[in-house]
Amino acid sequence: MQRHHYSAVVLLSVGLIVSGIASADFLSMYKADALHPSASLTKSGMLSDYVPALKGTNGDTRVYYYESGNPGATILLLGGTHPNESAGFIAATVLVENAHVAKGRLIVVPQACASGFTVTDPLEGCPTHFTVAAQSGPRTFRFGARGGNPLHQWPDPLVYRHFPSGQQLSGMESRNLNRSYPGRENGSFMEKVGYAFVQMIKKEKVDIAFDLHEAAPEVMIINAIITHEKGSDIGASAVLNLEFEDLKYSLEISPKNFHGLSHREWGDSTDVVPFLMETSNPIQGRMRGITNEKLILEGQDPFYRIAAQLGTVRITYELDGEPLSLRVARHLQGFRRVVEAYNEAHPEKTAIVENVPEYLSVVKQGVGNFLR
Ligand SMILES: [Zn+2]
Repeated sequence: MQRHHYSAVVLLSVGLIVSGIASADFLSMYKADALHPSASLTKSGMLSDYVPALKGTNGDTRVYYYESGNPGATILLLGGTHPNESAGFIAATVLVENAHVAKGRLIVVPQACASGFTVTDPLEGCPTHFTVAAQSGPRTFRFGARGGNPLHQWPDPLVYRHFPSGQQLSGMESRNLNRSYPGRENGSFMEKVGYAFVQMIKKEKVDIAFDLHEAAPEVMIINAIITHEKGSDIGASAVLNLEFEDLKYSLEISPKNFHGLSHREWGDSTDVVPFLMETSNPIQGRMRGITNEKLILEGQDPFYRIAAQLGTVRITYELDGEPLSLRVARHLQGFRRVVEAYNEAHPEKTAIVENVPEYLSVVKQGVGNFLR
């Protein structure tokens, strides 16, 4: 064999090794996260139970039902609409693994956008997984992308035209579940996922629904509860009660002309009263530095700290950072107070969810303590 043949063999082998490692990394994100539901789980199902066309696709996702057997309100809670907003997914997981429903029903979907959990956002350098120290040992979860995997809906249009409003957004938003409501049965992959959630809300006669999110610290809507106009009284009452325990949430009413979002479209197309909650997450911010698992878990970033000290941006970045436990605790406490406010407004049809960890317990003991 001549020398250039050796070089070719060496280069080919290096190429095969690199692509082998990369493929293993890509495929690791298709491995489902293991969840361990509480003993109160009544049944588990799939999103495709509402739209069979989703069965076997990457849009299908697990649905957990907790039915008290006592008549009352039905609550739906979604985490993982945006899979890179880990506090939403983990707060939903804490409910799945702890909740006991004494009155009414609770339905939880921890990974609403299943497709987005199979990929990370390009050019962001984010980790694919993060590990939380749980009761029985380490638990590893996926850190996904904001939108669905481009391999599952390709190509992005230049302009995404929302159905049915005709509102125009950038093409990549066609893979954003929270721009895809109310969706359509024969629409794009993500429109089918959005449509399935609306069918679920209608079929299960959901009374009150939550969609848990996070946003960059510099974004105006952090630490907010956003609701449809029909939820404004309940939202105001919840925000006031949270204020009494020194927790600041701002109440935002969903803009009527901004289409595709859960808090707008669920409210417009069904009887449900929807709430979207946001926490502040430095890994999503444009000012962040090193982007790693530690940033997901501890939420400490030196650049946000400087920005906060200088007062140059409107952020709530405290000296201890914004750890996952704090962000999950805020979601759980917001959920608790909104449900209580709903019950006060609808004494004829209430829901009681027990075993939701208290805010201070989650902050002090760490969220891993509430993962089985
Ligand atoms: Zn979000």
